[in-house]
Amino acid sequence: MVRFPDAPDPLDEAFPLGDGTADDTAEAACPYCGEPCELTLDPGGGAHQEYVEDCPVCCRPWRVTARWTDGVAAVTLETEDE
Ligand SMILES: [Zn+2]
Repeated sequence: MVRFPDAPDPLDEAFPLGDGTADDTAEAACPYCGEPCELTLDPGGGAHQEYVEDCPVCCRPWRVTARWTDGVAAVTLETEDE
């Protein structure tokens, strides 16, 4: 993923980041063990993020996709191995 943190973002007005209105947690179920988990998000990092995080229950790596729409986070967890 390439980020341009200093580039003007046309979404900024519609998407107030970092002022407490964007979700900074989301619920999702682990794709390996099925355990529901609460993820801690960083809405200041951009309206669309992809990163890898380990499941706190089974320790296997998730490929996390996080998107915010009007400050509401939607998170998808996928397995690393395909
Ligand atoms: Zn798990």
